[in-house]
Amino acid sequence: MSVLSNRVINMATSATLAMAAKARELRAEGKDIIGLSLGEPDFNTPDFIKDAAIQAINDNYNSYSPVDGYVELKNAIITKFKRDNNLTYDLSQIVVSTGAKQSLANVALVVLNPGDEVILPCPYWVSYSDIVKIAEGVPVEVKTSIDTDFKMTPEQLEAAITPKTKMLWYSSPCNPSGSVYSKEELRALADVLVKYPQITVVSDEIYEHINYVGGHASMAQFPDMYDRTVTVNGVSKAFAMTGWRIGYIGGPTEIARACNKMQGQITSGANCIAQRAVITALEANPSKVQYMIDEFKNRRTLILNLLNDIDGFVCNNPDGAFYVFPEVTAFFGKTLNGVTIKNASDFAMYLLEHANVATVTGEAFGNPNCIRISYAASKEQITEAIKRIKDAVS
Ligand code: PLP
Repeated sequence: MSVLSNRVINMATSATLAMAAKARELRAEGKDIIGLSLGEPDFNTPDFIKDAAIQAINDNYNSYSPVDGYVELKNAIITKFKRDNNLTYDLSQIVVSTGAKQSLANVALVVLNPGDEVILPCPYWVSYSDIVKIAEGVPVEVKTSIDTDFKMTPEQLEAAITPKTKMLWYSSPCNPSGSVYSKEELRALADVLVKYPQITVVSDEIYEHINYVGGHASMAQFPDMYDRTVTVNGVSKAFAMTGWRIGYIGGPTEIARACNKMQGQITSGANCIAQRAVITALEANPSKVQYMIDEFKNRRTLILNLLNDIDGFVCNNPDGAFYVFPEVTAFFGKTLNGVTIKNASDFAMYLLEHANVATVTGEAFGNPNCIRISYAASKEQITEAIKRIKDAVS
């Protein structure tokens, strides 16, 4: 019998991290692997943010911060929510955590009782389903397809609701599909949700600024959804700060207080130097990081053009984030270089071993017909990677 709990035994290993580890292993064996599996900007954190962190160290920020974050940071978050999203929160509604991942885990742990159902439009970010399971909730996947740009329709939402439904979680812009829900589309989902007041919405907006069509919409902007929506955001993606580990929520006071209580027993709050730096990041005009978004947009055009030139890859037009999520079912059942491809996992493994390109199987995101390719890599790497993929599948 294992010493380990069923909780961890039944938990999936993060597929994106597993693929990155496999790529590292192959590199160590001397293989020239191009990594397009991780959701991580390849830019450095901007200097004005790094300077703020150095200043915080010199100013001797070295003690525990308040568990839910420094008041100055919470005020910067309040200002950001007002400035960028027209959302009004007070200090009691904001909690700063160790990455948006912890923000999401907190919310699951404080809202879910065993057996509560959480609706996850598929494809969803790889960790949603396992975070829900850790909190003893039950993920309910709603399958979408490329025909609706991988977005859930109001009819699909209503069909998935049961008396046990406690939450709906989604990201917009979406990791992995890049889809962006318009205000009208969110309103149509809200029109269903208003009939079911027991459902809390988790709106993950971490890719908010990486949006190529403009018009980012938040569920909490609707007055009839404000009291039941937790808005999750963070600095990892738009500010190239993945390793700094700062995320945050704005939401109902009752949930925010509970998240504070939960992380008080688990982390005692987020890293103090990173928090001070994030004050500077959030107070800055978002135009300061526009150069990264412009570059992602150019790379999106590049990768879509290259992929659309390969028979068998079918792409949507991702409006945000930095991923493409092509359907690759045309390869299922085929034998390539002696390898039979049965599903997306086989295909991603084939690309790793025969094209030396790391991608991630769509199965990890609840869609077994696709693979996810990150274009948070240089144009040279993208061009070379897609050339290798083309050669390996032709
Ligand atoms: N939400 C989504 C949709 C993500 O893609 C990610 C990171 O990949 C996160 C949350 C977690 O972000 P953080 O680095 O702030 O924990």
